[in-house]
Amino acid sequence: MLTRVVWSPALLGYDFGPGHPMTPVRLDLTFRLAAELGVLDADGVTLVGAEPASDEVLATAHDPAYVAAVQRASATGRPDPSHGLGTADDPCFPGMHEAAARIVTGSVEAADALWSGEALHAVNIAGGMHHAMRTNAAGFCIYNDAVAAIRRLLDAGAQRVAYVDLDAHHGDGVEAAFWDDPRVLTVSVHESGLTLFPGTGHPTDVGGPHARGTVVNVAVPAGTSDTRWLRAVDAVALTVARAFAPEVLVTQHGCDAHGQDPLTHLDVSVDAQRAAMERVHALAHDVCAGRWLALGGGGYAVTQVVPRVWTHLLAIAAHVPIDVGTPVPEGFAEHVRLITSGGETPATMGDGEPLRAPRGWGEGYDPHDDVDRVILAARRAVFEWHDLDPLYD
Ligand SMILES: [Zn+2]
Ligand SMILES: [Zn+2]
Repeated sequence: MLTRVVWSPALLGYDFGPGHPMTPVRLDLTFRLAAELGVLDADGVTLVGAEPASDEVLATAHDPAYVAAVQRASATGRPDPSHGLGTADDPCFPGMHEAAARIVTGSVEAADALWSGEALHAVNIAGGMHHAMRTNAAGFCIYNDAVAAIRRLLDAGAQRVAYVDLDAHHGDGVEAAFWDDPRVLTVSVHESGLTLFPGTGHPTDVGGPHARGTVVNVAVPAGTSDTRWLRAVDAVALTVARAFAPEVLVTQHGCDAHGQDPLTHLDVSVDAQRAAMERVHALAHDVCAGRWLALGGGGYAVTQVVPRVWTHLLAIAAHVPIDVGTPVPEGFAEHVRLITSGGETPATMGDGEPLRAPRGWGEGYDPHDDVDRVILAARRAVFEWHDLDPLYD
């Protein structure tokens, strides 16, 4: 079993500057914690770096005029608002093109390795740039590595790819890219657009005329917490993904659904996010012969949440899962104290509350529960296209 982990310090170059929420410290801390817990030394784990993707590869996800605009803004530092560059969310920085293009290579080469059988699982924590659009940057995302990786799989001959996005924000860029492509299922479980950027991702958005039912949106209300969030993941995302019978599973694990995240309003613990990863991993083995590409994404509780969640992701993909009761290693805690002038880390790899497993949907739902209503809306919108029963499957 081989698990390919995309990592090199060069990926820390994706840096919008001081004060921006998407600091590369998130990645650095994740790999420090994973290393301290021995995850990166597990049998079968291979670390691989990534050179910047060529214009040809970037053109599989983006308009060449946009790629040229990024290259210009990257070299000159001049804003280009018509392409979403130089905004508060996506400020220009020197080397922006190369840094963003490196992330694309990480995910595209991971897709190659899965398709050729060189790797069974692959993880690119720096990836998951799900808001980047064909012609513009958005929401901290310059190039959409998820789109480029899925295109690579299709170009290599894959007929069915499922993309499951668990970030608190709607996976709008990936959805838009495959809106009318029946070979790609995109499922996003996110905080409702009524309260969160980018404001899209409604259950009635189900894909284009050639691909009805291959776009799935579960827009949970602000405040949704563990058991009900997992119920949404189970009763919609994983149920549809299983029925779609993909050859490869691509998942996005932005960890900004956590209660401590400063940018969102969900309340999903490290433990529940870890439980979702275990379900996704099991699904990959059940239906995709194991072929699983796991990506990072958002996550802005930099010291308290992100390193733990993504270390769990790396550990699950490496087949050395870490118990939530495992103490956070002292070496890691000391490093966090050093960089935060005394800030403390959580004591353990979980949040300390026992996780209740959700009931199966077939055992009944509560029409007065606002999450159950959202789940039912998503199921009613798409289940018929997958020969599933919205009430009982
Ligand atoms: Zn997000
Ligand atoms: Zn596995």
